[in-house]
Amino acid sequence: MQRPEILFQIEAHRSIDCDCACGTPYPASSTSPPPLSGMWQARQPALTQSIERGAWRAYYVPTATTPVTVMNAAAQRLWSALSEPRSVAELASLFDLPRTDVEAPLATMARVGLIRPWEAVEIAPPLEPQPTTLTAWLYLTQQCNLRCPYCYVPHRNASMDEATARAAIAKLTEMTKRHGYRRIKIKYAGGEPTLRFDLIRTIQSALTEQSRAAGLEAESVVLTNGTTWNEERLDFIAEHGIHMAISLDGGAEAHNRLRAFPNGRSSYEKVLWTIEKALERGIEITLSLTITAWNLDGVSDVVRLAMEKALPFNLNFVRERQPQPWVPEAEALAQALHSAFRVMEQHIATYPHPLTASFDRARFDFPHTHTCAAGRDYIAILPDGRIAPCHMETANPLSTIEATDPLAEVRRRSKATFAPAVDELPDCATCPWRYACGGGCPLLRGTEAHRRYCRIYRRFYPELIRLEGLRLLYRHRKSPFSID
Ligand code: SF4
Ligand code: SF4
Repeated sequence: MQRPEILFQIEAHRSIDCDCACGTPYPASSTSPPPLSGMWQARQPALTQSIERGAWRAYYVPTATTPVTVMNAAAQRLWSALSEPRSVAELASLFDLPRTDVEAPLATMARVGLIRPWEAVEIAPPLEPQPTTLTAWLYLTQQCNLRCPYCYVPHRNASMDEATARAAIAKLTEMTKRHGYRRIKIKYAGGEPTLRFDLIRTIQSALTEQSRAAGLEAESVVLTNGTTWNEERLDFIAEHGIHMAISLDGGAEAHNRLRAFPNGRSSYEKVLWTIEKALERGIEITLSLTITAWNLDGVSDVVRLAMEKALPFNLNFVRERQPQPWVPEAEALAQALHSAFRVMEQHIATYPHPLTASFDRARFDFPHTHTCAAGRDYIAILPDGRIAPCHMETANPLSTIEATDPLAEVRRRSKATFAPAVDELPDCATCPWRYACGGGCPLLRGTEAHRRYCRIYRRFYPELIRLEGLRLLYRHRKSPFSID
C-alpha cells in the first residue's frame, strides 16, 4: 500500500497584521503525539477539494485544530475507514498492514484534529483556546498627510499627548495582568501614526519597560500609508522589532485614484520605496489592501506584488454600512477576485505564507466562533484617552483609561453587538464556513454590504482551500510531476 501522507502547516499565525481587530493567534495543535489507545473516529469535513495533482485532496474540517489539510489517496482511505469508530488494531487488520504502519498517520491525524477519540462528545461550537493577547489600537493622531476618500477618520487636529500615551500603556499593562492575558499587542494607528513618530518612540520604550516589569510579552505594529518614512525611522522600527502593515490599494493607477497626495502627486512610488527599505532591514510587513468599488482593477496587482516579494497580505473588504459609493457590486467584486486568485495560483509554488488569513476577516487556521476580537480582547484608545470597542466605533466611546477596569466596562456595554457567537446568529448558525468566517464584521450585520460580502465569502472560500492545498503540496516539495 502507498504510504499515507497528510500535509499541513501549523505555524499559520505568523503575524498577518490586519488593519482590524484580527483574531488573536492561538496556540495550535500540540507537537507531542497523542496516545492512540481506544477507538477513533473521523471529524467530518465541510468540504473536500480536488487539487488536480494526482489523487491529492484538500480538506477543510471546521472543528479540527488545524482545519486545512491535504491527504494522498492512502491517507484518504484510512481516514474514510474511520467514518465508523475503530481502534488501531482494527484499522491495521482492515488494511492488512502492520500496526506500526497505521500508528504514524493516525498520530498525525489526531494531532491536527482530523480524528477524535470516539468516546469524546463532539464539542460544537469548538472549544476556543483561552485568548492570550490583549490588543489595543492606539489612535495617536486623527491627522493624515493623505485624503483617501473612503477614510472613516475625521481629519481633526486631535493628537494624543505624552501624558495620555503613558497613562494608556500603564492601564493596558494593568488590564493585561488583571484579565489573565500573557501578551500586549499595540497597533499604532491614526490618521497616519508616523506624523507622531515622537510618540511611537516614547510609547515603545514605555511598553518595553512596563511589560518587562510585569512579566508580559509585548508586540507592536504600525498601521501606515507608507509615505512618511525615512531611513532613520525604519532603523528604529527594525531595531525594536516592530512590524508594519502598509496600505497599498492597487498598481500605480488604482492606488493613486484613492491614495495620491492631496496635491494629486503619486504616492505609489514612495510606498514601494518604503516596502523595499523595510525588507532590506528584515522588518516584518503585511500588505493591506482595502477593496472598494473604485480599485477593483488593482486587486490582482497587489496580490502579484505580495506573492513576488513573499509578503503576507490581507484583502480587506471596505467596511461601510451604506453600499454607495464604496461597496462593490457582488459580481464586480467576484470578477476582481477571480483575477486575483488566478495570480495567486500562478505564484503558489513558491509562496511561503499560508493563505488561510488573507481573505478579509476569515481565518482558516484555527476554529473560532467570533469574527474578530472587538468587544472582548481588543479596544481602541482615542487621542483623549476615551475607549471604544472597535476603531470604527469612535463616535461611541464606552470607557476611558481613567476607569478602574475599562475592558470590563467595554465588554459589558458592547455585549449586544460583539458577544454573540456565530452559532447564535440566525443567518450563520448552519453555515458550513461559520468557524472560519465567524459571521463577518459585526458592525455590518443586517446591511446590504454584509449580504454582498456573505455571497462572496461562500463563493470564494472553497477556492481559497483549493489554493492553500496546492501551496501545501509545493511546500512539501511535491512537484506536479512526481505526485502519484
Ligand atoms: S457571513 Fe455568510 S459565509 Fe460567513 S458564517 Fe455567516 S452565512 Fe456563512
Ligand atoms: S467590528 Fe468589524 S471593523 Fe471592528 S474590529 Fe471587528 S471586523 Fe473589524
